[in-house]
Amino acid sequence: MRLVTKAGLLVACTMLVTLLSGLLARNYILNPHLLSIEREADQRDIERFTHAIDHYRENLESRIKRIYAAAGVLQNLGGTINWSPIVLDLAHIGGYEELDYFILADKSGDNAVMRAGELVDKEDTPPSPRALNEVLKKIIAQLDSTDGATTSGLMVSQADGPLVYAAGRASWNTDKLPAIYAAVRRLSPAMIEELGEHLGLSVEALSLADSKNQRKHYGVGLGQRSDADTLYAELHDRNDNHILSLKFNTAPRAFDERTFSPTIVAALSFSILAWGLILLVMRHSIVKPIQQLTATMRRVRQTSNYGERFEYRHRDELGKLVDECNELLNHVGGHTQQLENYSYKDSLTGIGNRRLFQERLDYQWRLSQRKHMPLSAIVFDLDYFKQYNDLYGHEGGDTVLKVFASLLQEVFTRDTDVVARTGGEEFIVLLLDADYHCAELMAERTLNALRQRHIPHAGAAHRGQVSASAGVSSLTPDESNSQEQLIRQADKALYRAKQLGRDNVAVYESSSLQLINNTHKSQP
Ligand code: GH3
Ligand code: MG
Ligand code: MG
Repeated sequence: MRLVTKAGLLVACTMLVTLLSGLLARNYILNPHLLSIEREADQRDIERFTHAIDHYRENLESRIKRIYAAAGVLQNLGGTINWSPIVLDLAHIGGYEELDYFILADKSGDNAVMRAGELVDKEDTPPSPRALNEVLKKIIAQLDSTDGATTSGLMVSQADGPLVYAAGRASWNTDKLPAIYAAVRRLSPAMIEELGEHLGLSVEALSLADSKNQRKHYGVGLGQRSDADTLYAELHDRNDNHILSLKFNTAPRAFDERTFSPTIVAALSFSILAWGLILLVMRHSIVKPIQQLTATMRRVRQTSNYGERFEYRHRDELGKLVDECNELLNHVGGHTQQLENYSYKDSLTGIGNRRLFQERLDYQWRLSQRKHMPLSAIVFDLDYFKQYNDLYGHEGGDTVLKVFASLLQEVFTRDTDVVARTGGEEFIVLLLDADYHCAELMAERTLNALRQRHIPHAGAAHRGQVSASAGVSSLTPDESNSQEQLIRQADKALYRAKQLGRDNVAVYESSSLQLINNTHKSQP
């Protein structure tokens, strides 16, 4: 699997784990906490509203008390007063302008009079006479059951719907004053809405049936917020009878509950984008250099060019790996060079060995055959070398071998010349595009150069110095001859040169072996 694929999978797994753990933390820790805060706030809103209704009721009752206090003062003024306008004024004190209607009646509830308040005037919805009886009945029962002179409460009138009322009863010593006075305010949708606005809440009055239907539809109970951010509550009277159903339109929920909520989708998209960028940077800064390093190593393996180096400018972990790879190439290059030296060079003299000679011979043979060029071989053998070792020691012999090898290198300087040590004191030289005249000349030049060194050799039969013999052979390679023939012929020529007294060059020609330049023979 590729590194980027692996990293991609890793990132995908990490994101999945993060998403799942985030969802779990959100759904089981954060959201329940926020939900409880939301519920507390919702309950507070409901309580504030019911308290406001309660407060309204208490306020209404305290006004009734003030009416009775005022009326109590007035009745002491005697029977000279025309009560009719004063009763209306009293009603004003009771909040006439804020009331839907008020009721005046004598002590037993008889002779009841109902008057519309200013609100009714405005709204043009006069109270039903049936409501009078309902309210009065309720008030009298209420006043009978309490010790106090005033009472207040909530009720549902069959004729006029839900109401808030406050009432009082007094025993006057004049029959011109009504004993019972009741102020009534309808809990109308407009009143509920207005009261809600006053508290900064959006509240609607609902029928019980509507409330039940809506709660069923959303699958919520009283005091619970629905998916549509509505909240349902009920108003009850002091005996816990249902008066009114309420619907609060709350502020939208402040937290996400959906699995793929906009917040989560946005966070996911952002992290996918961020990880995409990270993977791109990773591909550029890690994967690509690794691919280049791989390609370089493959090229080195295929071409065996250990001189190649990998370029990487950063000093990070990858840079250290690259340094190590370069060092390894250095190391392998050095070792390979050393091994090549061992396998192609003669360890004593530093010139080519038999293996090198054979490989070059193969190549030059094919080249000469294709180009129809002559190829020459010269075989050298030091004369009386056994004696030299015997006289001057093995190390002395080695020195002479080295001297002769370097001498060969000095004489044969063409790029195509192959100089090798093929045996103990035997050397061979391969000359490309050279006929036997040329080879013979070069062989003679070599022997001359050796003579000029004047290396003493007490065991040598002539001149008392180290000398060598050479056999020359030349062929233009074709189907009728072979490499072996070339060497064999050179060996034969060498043998001939030895036979003829050493320190000379013999050339192998097809008809006969020719001895060349053995002038020293004539010398003592
Ligand atoms: P000829 O003139 O007929 O060539 O006689 P020769 O003594 O040179 O020939 P022969 O083949 O009898 O002896 C070769 C000697 O070369 C034998 C051996 O001691 C010596 N020799 C071979 N290899 C080495 C070497 O690596 N170092 C030294 N010092 N001597 C070597
Ligand atoms: Mg020999
Ligand atoms: Mg010899």
